[in-house]
Amino acid sequence: RRFCQLLPKIELHAHLNGCIRTSTFRQLLSSTADQLRLDALDKEFQSGDTHARMANVFEKFALLRSCVTNLDEIRRITRETLEDFITDHIIYVELRTRPRSFDNGAIPMSSYVEAILETMKQYENQICSRLILSIDRTQTVDQAMETLKLAERYRPNVVGLDLSGDPNVKSFEHFLPVFNLAKQMNLSTTIHIGELPDAECLRENDLILDFKPSRLGHFNFRTNEQEQRVIKEQIPLEICPTSNLLTMKLANLTEHHFNLFHTRRHPLAICTDDSGLMDCCLSSEIYDLVQSFRITKEEICELMLQTCNLIFDKNQIDFCQTKLKEFLTNI
Ligand code: IMP
Repeated sequence: RRFCQLLPKIELHAHLNGCIRTSTFRQLLSSTADQLRLDALDKEFQSGDTHARMANVFEKFALLRSCVTNLDEIRRITRETLEDFITDHIIYVELRTRPRSFDNGAIPMSSYVEAILETMKQYENQICSRLILSIDRTQTVDQAMETLKLAERYRPNVVGLDLSGDPNVKSFEHFLPVFNLAKQMNLSTTIHIGELPDAECLRENDLILDFKPSRLGHFNFRTNEQEQRVIKEQIPLEICPTSNLLTMKLANLTEHHFNLFHTRRHPLAICTDDSGLMDCCLSSEIYDLVQSFRITKEEICELMLQTCNLIFDKNQIDFCQTKLKEFLTNI
């Protein structure tokens, strides 16, 4: 466990607001009714199936969104997230977030992005952090285009574009023109894929694979053909053990698809997804995989070294690999 804590780590799939500390979330909830709703959601989560659990998680996100109302709060969430990641020995992180405006547009989305980037800059001596902008599945194509424009405007600190949000709203096809444009602009892309076990979601998987994003998030539910395709085309996967375990309702981690890809030496990044809401950290995610699949220290180091190749800011690969190698020669 200590080794997993001290190991310099790379985090590539972390939703900024999902990283909020539980204590901060509770503080920001203004009314007793909201506090009680959060308690009820925590309780209900335990008994639901995948669909119910996803709905539950997205209701929690809606509650969280309603209580984050200004730039100071977003600065605080960014600051606390980075501090928690530094404590966990993360050396490079790509945080992702859906840009939003406040006060009915008086504070524009660009201010939201700038507030996060400025906070990241304050920590640059302790952690190298980059931003990915998220398009939410419920948004319109115009809104998604606006996000793409923001991503372009804040390059190189913004390094990519993500598609996330409630997977019940299946709309990759809808956003294809935006993602095609991102590709033309040489902007890296990452898409949430296969989060639900239903036929429609599996059909959407094919569309996403046809697009061939730079990385894929989750890939929990898939057909054999889709699995083979991802392996053959070597599309990197962001794997979030605790989050997947909870939403897929697996009995334990040994049922997780991590090993299927790991044993084939597939490009993988182990990630936390929503460390605050899911109550996890990257070193415990890695430790749990080590325990469940009897992975050696050497294998973990090798995995972390190959994860460095998956980062979107290619200028930082050397920095990350050098830090890792330094650590390994000193243990
Ligand atoms: P934000 O973009 O910083 O506000 O981070 C929270 C948002 O990330 C949520 O509202 C969701 O839309 C998205 N998100 C977090 N976890 C997941 C997931 O597991 N699947 C899909 N979307 C997610």
